[in-house]
Amino acid sequence: MTPDEKLSLADKLYRTKYEPDPGHPHVTVDAASLKKAKTRKILKACPAGVYTKDPNDPEKVAVSHENCLECGTCRQAGADEGVEWKQPDGGKGVKYRYG
Ligand code: SF4
Repeated sequence: MTPDEKLSLADKLYRTKYEPDPGHPHVTVDAASLKKAKTRKILKACPAGVYTKDPNDPEKVAVSHENCLECGTCRQAGADEGVEWKQPDGGKGVKYRYG
């Protein structure tokens, strides 16, 4: 096991610098589509844990767009789950990756 494999998700995310865009999330989910989805692949597919079950309503998915690594995985995995993803506006989003 390499040293990087021993790091927690929070440690790995700490290595990335973000420029947040408050009030303009580049990742959204359509709640109605998610309720219809038979599986919720995005909960497992996102490497940054952006999508989690809403602790107040297990039928809903919470989105922490500020942690997005812009890998694009959810564009594929979430295509039938109501995921809307676009590039962050210029100068926003991931600014720097270390390692
Ligand atoms: Fe997660 Fe990647 Fe989608 Fe961002 S682009 S929400 S990191 S799967």
